[in-house]
Formats: sequence, structure tokens, C-alpha cells
Amino acid sequence: MAVDSGLSSPLGPPACEKDAKALQFIEEMTRNADQVQEKILAKILSQNGETEYLQRFKLAGATDRDTFKSKVPVVTYEDLQPDIQRIANGDRSPILSSHPISEFLTSSGTSAGERKLMPTIHEEWDRRQKLYSLLMPVMNLYVPGLDKGKGLYFLFVKSETKTPSGLVARPVLTGYYRSEHFKKRPYDPYNVYTSPDEAILCVDSFQSMYAQMLCGLLMHKEVFRVGAVFASGLLRAIRFLQVHWQQLAHDISTGILNPKITDPSVRECLAGILKPSQELADFIIQECSGGNWERIITRIWPNTKYLDVIVTGAMAQYIPTLDYFSGGLPLACTMYASSECYFGLNLKPMSKPSEVSYTIMPNMGYFEFLPHDPSAPPLSRDSPPRLVDLADVEVGKEYELVITTYAGLCRYRVGDILQVTGFYNSAPQFQFIRRKNVLLSIDSDKTDEAELQKAVENASLLLREFNTSVVEYTSFADTKTIPGHYVIYWELLVKDPSNSPTDTVLKQCCLAMEESLNAVYRQGRVADNSIGPLEIRVVKSGTFEELMDYAISRGASINQYKVPRCVNFTPIMELLDSRVLSTYFSPAAPHWTPERRRTD
Ligand code: AMP
Repeated sequence: MAVDSGLSSPLGPPACEKDAKALQFIEEMTRNADQVQEKILAKILSQNGETEYLQRFKLAGATDRDTFKSKVPVVTYEDLQPDIQRIANGDRSPILSSHPISEFLTSSGTSAGERKLMPTIHEEWDRRQKLYSLLMPVMNLYVPGLDKGKGLYFLFVKSETKTPSGLVARPVLTGYYRSEHFKKRPYDPYNVYTSPDEAILCVDSFQSMYAQMLCGLLMHKEVFRVGAVFASGLLRAIRFLQVHWQQLAHDISTGILNPKITDPSVRECLAGILKPSQELADFIIQECSGGNWERIITRIWPNTKYLDVIVTGAMAQYIPTLDYFSGGLPLACTMYASSECYFGLNLKPMSKPSEVSYTIMPNMGYFEFLPHDPSAPPLSRDSPPRLVDLADVEVGKEYELVITTYAGLCRYRVGDILQVTGFYNSAPQFQFIRRKNVLLSIDSDKTDEAELQKAVENASLLLREFNTSVVEYTSFADTKTIPGHYVIYWELLVKDPSNSPTDTVLKQCCLAMEESLNAVYRQGRVADNSIGPLEIRVVKSGTFEELMDYAISRGASINQYKVPRCVNFTPIMELLDSRVLSTYFSPAAPHWTPERRRTD
């Protein structure tokens, strides 16, 4: 029921007093986007003006935009890496931030095969918490009555490590779930989860998923929304149900928890939730035993109003599968964030995935936009790029996001390409177009062309003794399987057919490619089970020439034709698949440990 709080919002009537305040905050920030940005930059520069990093650029105490833009360079992670490494190694002097670096957030973006380390400061969690606190008030404008039900969210922590100096390094959501902000969050009837914190915080991914699924089943009628952070995570949960429904139903029938759940805190909290119910167990058996998984989400959780998962960017590939499992429930993409900084939220969370635009909240950091022109020459120090301010971007244009944060990133290129779709008040709204240089992605892994090339090179070393080489290759992210997996098409030149590579060697080539891929990929394969074994499909000789003929027949220039290193256009896939001679899967998991490779 909407309240008349005297704080009415142009976004719509707020559902409660707390929501009214949140919507009012969004109004204030978006109405004054430019002024807020100016203030934020001045605050960051006065807070960090004495840091070693900013001192290098001789701002002489200036905190205005013009001085900042003329003196401070636009940088990438590699530019900052020496400073970041010093912090990781224990230098506690104010290098990037005047506030002590409280931990490193390990990005899914990689540098030299390892996750990038993003410095953060303690107060940053308050800012991120504030953005989280805006999500439900916006959602409540579109979906009434969410306070009468619960959210079944599959949320996980991942392993954390320590830098040589003892600073914690962990993924941003692991940091958030382990923070007091999450663990001591006040009760909010609009934001009640079926998953107990003990299950979310359990480091064993099987036990965590099992406990969360069990609670979701036990409270199935109370569930009003089902979600995970990214689409791939929700599909992994459905896959888990497909594999484990019998054991889950058994636990519900008997009221006795699966002995594989050994974490004492999870066992203890489930003891208070798991009560025997033959009726519920029979219901689960009836829905799952027929092997028909269409609309399984709405069959098991009949009151679900929407799925809360990000399906923009690389995750768009999962929309058809989610539609199949949910019977086409709305897909809500609520926020846009990264390890470096949380950026903004979707003010129309029930819009179709193809129409989702995120409104960057001007209080989260200082944002600049590098006009994105793929044909422009690369940036150089001599011709510094002209960056546009948040309030000055133009509708229809594409930009790369560049951020300046309280934690000490200055004019840092995030690598995301965004397109302006419109404005809410004076704050622009952006469609997420893509992340730069990502060829293949299944979960949070991001493999670029150079990494794939290196992996093919390394794997093809195994073919040498067979006098065989890889003459051409391309790739494809196969998301029809759960979990999805990388498919690499290889055309081989076998010089001595009497000594062609054996099946065992080609399987080893799959594994060798996986060993070469970055740490996020290997973690997905080994620890998270979010990526399936890599597959090589060997195609007939001449296939890639046919591919070129096809491209030329569709207008490609013969002089400029380059083999696409990743394909997803159906006719091309059909052509490739019709020429497959044999397929091989990686026979084992690649090597991965939470420890980072030492780069110092
Ligand atoms: P990480 O640093 O691992 O947290 O990853 C952050 C990156 O994930 C962002 O820079 C984006 O490339 C991607 N990302 C985050 N939120 C969204 C979203 N709502 N839609 C599409 N991509 C997103």
C-alpha cells in the first residue's frame, strides 16, 4: 500500500516511509548530477591530495575539474600495477588513498592471467550499502506486496587469500557478505531471504547450494522472487536441483539432513527449519521425476513474480534458457557494479532485457566518458583523449567508462562500453553494450583473443611429435549445456596420416588449453563448477576456406577478411558443425589454487 508521506516521488508512490526517503535521494542525486559530480571530485581530491600518486601530478591543492583533467592521466590497471603491488607487499604509506586500504577486491577482469587486485577502503562499504538500499524501493514501485513473501536468492562466498603483507584479497561480494553491513543488516520485510546467512557464508559450494536449495523448497509457497547475481548462477542452481532433487526430497520426507552437510553452523540452523513433510516431498518428486524441466521455477515456486538476475552484457546468452525454466517470467536487472566501484541502478527494473538502461548514481564516484570509436588510433600520452563529464554525454553515443574513486583509482579505464539511451532528470542512462576485448565468457570468466591464441599455441605443442599443426581455429561459448563450456574448432594439417595425433593426445590438448587460460576460468572449472570441460571439435580440412567464401558471399572484402576468433551466427555454426570429424573433451580439471602467482 502506498504511503502519503509528503515526500511524493516522480518515480511513483513509495510503498512505505523508508522507500519515500530512498526515492527522494534518487531525485536529489539525479536532478543535480553535474553539481554532485563536481562536489564528489573535489571531495576525493581533497581527501587524497597528499597521496603519493596525486602528488606526482602537481595539482598544488587544486580540486577543480579543469586542473584535474589537464594534469592527471587516464590509466589502465597495468599502469597502476607497480603501486598496487607495493601496497600488496606491505607499504602502508598513503600511495593511492589517504585512508588505509582495508582489503583488495579481486576482479573477474584479469591481468597477466591473474585477477586484478582492486584496493578498497572501509568507508566504501557505506556507499555501496547505500546503493543496495535503493534497489527495493524502486522495485516496490513496480511489484506490490513483496513484503508478504521472501526472496530465494542463491548467493555464495568464494575463497579468500592474503597478500604478502596480510591484506585480505577476495571477490567483492564475498567481502560484502562477510561484512557487518550484510551480517548485521536490520530486518526489512521487503528484503527477507529464504537462505540463512549461515548457508550463504558456508565456503563449501556444494553444502552452501544444498542448504540454500533445501530452504527454498521448504518455503516454496512463500517465495515471491528467485534470483542470483548473474544468470549463469541461477542456471547452476536449477542444474543442482535436476541432479539432487531425490536427496532433497528424501531430507524433506524424513526431516533428516543429508549427512554430506557437515558444516556445524549450517546443520545447526537447518535443524530449526527442516521439519518432515511427506506432502511437500511428494510434490517435489511429482514435479521433478518426469524429466520435464520446462517452467520448473514456476511449478516449484508458484508465487514467483520475477527472476532477479543480471542478463545484460555477456549474460544475455542465457535469456532463452531462463525463459524455458520460468515460462517467460520477467527478468529484472537491478544494478550495474564492479569491484572498483558500484555504478548505478535500473530505475525500470521490469523492462525487457534488451531495453535495460542503468542510471549511474553521481554520488558513487567521479565518472568520465571516453568516446568509443573502434576505428580511432590507440590513445597516446602525446594526444590525450578528451573525456566527457557525466552530465554532458550525448544520447545515442557510445563511451568507455572512466572512474575516479575514493579508494584512489584516478581516471581509471573500467573497460566497459556503454551507450547513452536517455536521461532521468539530468543523470544519463546507459545501456551496457559490452566489455572490451572479451571473446569468450560463460560465467564471470572473460577470455580475450590473446589468451585464446596463447592457449591454442600451447596446446598445439603436443601435436608436434605427430608432425601436425593447427592451421586455423575459432571458438564458441556453448551455453546449451549447464554449465556452459568453451568449444574450440580446430582445422589440422596432418602431414603424415600414418602417424596422426591419437584421441588421447587431442584430449590432452583440451586440458593444455585450459591450463593456459586465466585464473578466473580455471576457478570456474575447479572450485565453482560454473564452467564445463573445454571441447575441441576437429573440422575437415578446407572448412575455414568455406567459412571465408561464406563471409565474402555476404559482402566481406577478400583483402581484409580475417578469421573470426569467436562465432555465434547460426549459419556459420551450422557450417562448422556439419564439417566436424571428431570431438574431444578435457579429461581432467586444470590446475587452480586460491593462491595468486607471485608477480613481484
Ligand atoms: P567484477 O570486477 O568482477 O566485479 O566485474 C565487474 C564487471 O561485470 C563490470 O565492469 C561489467 O563488465 C560486468 N557487469 C557488472 N554489472 C553488470 C550489468 N548489470 N550488466 C552487464 N555487465 C555487468
